[in-house]
Amino acid sequence: MADAEDSCFGLLAQQSLTGEKAEERCDNMTWPRKIKRHRGGNLPARIFNGNAIRDQIYSELTGEISALRDAGIRPGLAAVLVGENPASKIYVSSKIAASEKLGLASFNITPPATISTSELLAIVEDLNRRDDVDGILVQLPLPAQIDAKKILEAVDPAKDVDGFHPLNVGRLVAGRPNLVACTPLGVMEILRRSKIQIEGANAAVLGRSDIVGKPMALLLMHANATVTVCHSKTRNLPEAVRRADIVIAAMGRTAMVTPDYIAPGATVIDVGINRITDAAQAESIFANLPERLASFRAKGSAVVGDVHPDVANIAGAITPVPGGVGPLTIAMLMSNTVRAARLRRGARISAAARS
Ligand code: NAP
Repeated sequence: MADAEDSCFGLLAQQSLTGEKAEERCDNMTWPRKIKRHRGGNLPARIFNGNAIRDQIYSELTGEISALRDAGIRPGLAAVLVGENPASKIYVSSKIAASEKLGLASFNITPPATISTSELLAIVEDLNRRDDVDGILVQLPLPAQIDAKKILEAVDPAKDVDGFHPLNVGRLVAGRPNLVACTPLGVMEILRRSKIQIEGANAAVLGRSDIVGKPMALLLMHANATVTVCHSKTRNLPEAVRRADIVIAAMGRTAMVTPDYIAPGATVIDVGINRITDAAQAESIFANLPERLASFRAKGSAVVGDVHPDVANIAGAITPVPGGVGPLTIAMLMSNTVRAARLRRGARISAAARS
């Protein structure tokens, strides 16, 4: 019986089958708990392990980095951190630590919060000219006096490892991607490496930001999913999301996606990162998770996604927060930096070898 349960559960999770289609496929198997699951029972979903997928990507990158080193190239990543924003400081130090762990060169540029747009432009232009810098990231948000669009457009598209430059966005739209935004790229790695069927699937992307929602929708569309992009003006959001085999939540709304949004067996990717400190909110969100509630009580805070944890009782597969999409964002930044080095400097070395 355990085998039949496993196969039916695997079928739901791996193929992202939902609703009637999933019931029909499971009807061919003996699974007494099927009805409980499909009525929103409490069988756990398959939990994607973002840290394990990140480690897999790092081990693949290590080989590529050592091949580049043999050719005299050490990929370099420059991070520009303006001011003293504590969250930005943590993000940048994680990115620098990952670069160092992989043996990339890293440069941390930390101008004061009072810097002007033209002064920051001069820093970016200097990094554009430096041959030892393959990737440039300007940590967002920038202070209010800075013209952020102007800064992002000043980054050399060949070094734009965040994938925010309009040229790189345009290439993605045209289906000829070069450097693509890291978080959506990381989500695709989770789906592909976990063998979730994307082609032909109905996908709902919740959020349409330039850095997550839009590139996410484009990547899924180019992978032959049928994509619905939802946003704050979408009418009857739960109904729109319930039609999806794959749900990507990227709204920045704490635990907003509740089980009634989700078709049984759907794959749910939670991009949201929200820090909660309110005890009543924690008690409501972690009502069925005593360990997480105890951890909240001990620390006075917790990190929660846009998806309510109870969704794990109806989804076929789900990313946890933390430990899901987050580790992949940094992994894809490393991957983009290595790619940028290979494309920009690798070609030059091959040409020199030929002459
Ligand atoms: P954002 O720029 O604020 O965009 C949020 C999007 O969600 C907007 O398109 C907005 O719609 C939509 N939205 C907001 N409230 C909604 C609602 N009630 N119903 C439907 N749609 C709604 O946010 P972002 O930068 O894309 O980030 C989204 C989340 O992902 C945040 O929690 C952020 O911290 C997290 N994030 C995580 C990573 C990671 O590495 N895991 C990386 C980046 C971001 P409108 O366009 O109509 O306003």
